Amino acid sequence: MNHLQEVIAKIEKARIAYSRHQVIKLVAVSKYWDIAQIIDLYNGGQRAFGENKVQDLKAKSAELENYPLEWHLIGTIQENKINTIISLAPALIHSIDSLKLALAFQQRLEREGKTQRALLQINSAREESKSGVDPNEAKEVYLAIKESCPNLLLEGVMSIGAHSEDEKVIAKSFEITKNIFDSLPNAKTLSMGMSGDYELAISCGANMLRIGSALL
Ligand SMILES: *Cc1c(COP(=O)(O)O)cnc(C)c1O
Repeated sequence: MNHLQEVIAKIEKARIAYSRHQVIKLVAVSKYWDIAQIIDLYNGGQRAFGENKVQDLKAKSAELENYPLEWHLIGTIQENKINTIISLAPALIHSIDSLKLALAFQQRLEREGKTQRALLQINSAREESKSGVDPNEAKEVYLAIKESCPNLLLEGVMSIGAHSEDEKVIAKSFEITKNIFDSLPNAKTLSMGMSGDYELAISCGANMLRIGSALL
């Protein structure tokens, strides 16, 4: 048993309230789940799954290789994991958090003649504990990656909402990311919203959600 249908109903309600024309993608964050729980979600119709650790992505995608799943890497990336990530070829990396990391991907992708879709993570809440570029530098970094990393197919931005009980503070962090997103040329993916704040993220324009615990 899981809560996929309830979560989808809530997403749909928030989506309609925001705009009937908005198209939203749900990435089920499977980092707390075992294989049977992922298969349960799959049987409920879920196809996109996200992991925050490269080793978990590797292990779970291998165990589930016979299922037509799409894997997303959403966690902070160490440079020594880049070769493994490129060989796993996730559908989307949400967590490119510096020009330096992007250049390291570019070098290896170019050498192997591959491309990789990705998002730039922005630390819109400006929290020490979070990865991501400073919102004041985000546009500049995004454009620099676009310019210098043609094999890293940057298609938007990702943020984790502010760690706060106050909805206004969380909304503010989402709005900062949305404003940057709107200023970028050809950006199409705005990944924000987790179990505790996805309806708020939708009201701020998110079109990709990363939801874990609420689905169990
Ligand atoms: C764990 C995680 C999520 C999902 O968190 P929940 O609160 O369980 O929905 C989303 N994004 C990132 C980057 C995560 O690490």
